[in-house]
Amino acid sequence: MVTEFRNEPLTDFACDRNREAQVRAIQAVEARFGAKVPAWIAGREVMTDQTIASLNPSEPSEVVGYAASATPDLADQAVRTAHEAFRDYSRWTAGARASVLLRAANIMRRRRFELNAVEILEAGKSWVEADADVAEAIDFCEFYAREAERYGGPQPLTPLPGERNELTYLPLGVVVVVPPWNFPLAITAGMTTGALAAGNTVVLKPASPTPVIAWYLVQILLEAGVPENAIQFVPGSGSAIGDLLVGHPLTRMIAFTGSKEVGLRVNEIAARVAPGQKWIKRVIAEMGGKDAIIVDEDADLEAAAAGIVTSAFGFQGQKCSACSRAILLDSVYERVVSDVVERARAIQVGPVKDPANWMGPVITESAMNSILRYIEVGKGEGTLLCGGRRLERPGYFIEPTVIGDVRPGARIEQEEIFGPVLACIRARDFDHALEIANDTDYGLTGAVYSRNRAHLEQARRDFFVGNLYFNRKCTGALVGVHPFGGFNMSGTDSKAGGRDYLLLFLQAKSVSEAL
Ligand code: NDP
Repeated sequence: MVTEFRNEPLTDFACDRNREAQVRAIQAVEARFGAKVPAWIAGREVMTDQTIASLNPSEPSEVVGYAASATPDLADQAVRTAHEAFRDYSRWTAGARASVLLRAANIMRRRRFELNAVEILEAGKSWVEADADVAEAIDFCEFYAREAERYGGPQPLTPLPGERNELTYLPLGVVVVVPPWNFPLAITAGMTTGALAAGNTVVLKPASPTPVIAWYLVQILLEAGVPENAIQFVPGSGSAIGDLLVGHPLTRMIAFTGSKEVGLRVNEIAARVAPGQKWIKRVIAEMGGKDAIIVDEDADLEAAAAGIVTSAFGFQGQKCSACSRAILLDSVYERVVSDVVERARAIQVGPVKDPANWMGPVITESAMNSILRYIEVGKGEGTLLCGGRRLERPGYFIEPTVIGDVRPGARIEQEEIFGPVLACIRARDFDHALEIANDTDYGLTGAVYSRNRAHLEQARRDFFVGNLYFNRKCTGALVGVHPFGGFNMSGTDSKAGGRDYLLLFLQAKSVSEAL
């Protein structure tokens, strides 16, 4: 009997036993540094001459793994194999697909510390952030398994005398899954298991900075019972094989999460009909954010400052949901900003192998350089209040950075920086705060700290974001609890972890029989 869905609990690292287990798992993963990550195509591991080195961003001299770099030929073979495998896999019952995903969730539970360790070393996540990412991956498996059964069951229709009517949901075909590196297990697992739960086959192209954890996922899914051809794994640079995978005539759907620029390109290429293509491709594209927290005059100012700091600097600000704009009512601006700066200064930054470091490195050298360039822009657009520098040590560490008195419309107020940089903006009144919050191309997350019920209701109506939070941080969406996805240039609002999500991977067939 499958029980009601519940979120996977987080690991309590205050407990000695858990701390020791995590240290041992980190050592075990370190002992395997430099291992090969193959492609998985047509039921076998394929290594290529060219490889992509996955580096530890805390210590870039360490190579976590060398991933195959799939050629266009291999990518083509992957799509063709997945297309052939669809014939059998699409006929699996919903119950059979669900039980595979439940098994995958159990394997992840069993290997929790090891998966955490890979994320700590490959993605630069702190222990707590890595653990939350693995918990979310487990949640996706559990949630979509239940959803597969729901969509596989009888669907309500209006009865009509003299006819027997039925509506069933069918899978689509080959889904090309393209995740980002920032939730390298959770989002990769979410899109992959969403597609598989619905009965589609998958070609997974992992993000280039995090192929090792993606390969763990593929191995776990195979061990759980996903047929060997129903999933194809093609590590390789997006610029080399992305267009081919998206544009392939046998690709039926693309599930993408990443930047606005790449998402728009995926959408455009998917819209072109290739010779031999028989369908209009479906695209889910979840993209960037420029998320804001508004602090009202009567808010709990300490709670607001704490929420801003956690949302802005957790995982180094590299979350699509991260707070990159604090919009503060004029009368509370000084107090909130000084509290935020004090808290930001107290953050310990360093290699995340050590759990004492709350903030770790940003993902790559090029990400670090891009963030540092934005900080330079920010110094001209406002006042640097704290941070602003790279740490003088190996690794891609940037201090938590707060820039005050940024004006609406400034570049650092409009463009996604994707790093530990917070812009503080003054608002005349609550209407003005909402106007500033909504005035970007994005619309992903937002939060309001207020005790004024009328203002909260106004924000409920007018703050145009897919995920809005009141009196709490704007990060940390939970599967099933806060279905996730944004408006405008933040994406197609697919609401991952919600009850509409699997529908995006399905098409409905109505059968009517005269009696
Ligand atoms: P990118 O857009 O750079 O990359 C995302 C994925 O697309 C990667 O796997 C990348 O491969 C691939 N890719 C690159 N070029 C192409 C192409 N031409 N065709 C197909 N795929 C391609 O994003 P990041 O990985 O840097 O992730 C950070 C971004 O993701 C941020 O903007 C963040 O806001 C967003 N994001 C959005 C979320 C949401 O739910 N809205 C959640 C999490 C992140 P490769 O790595 O090889 O270049």
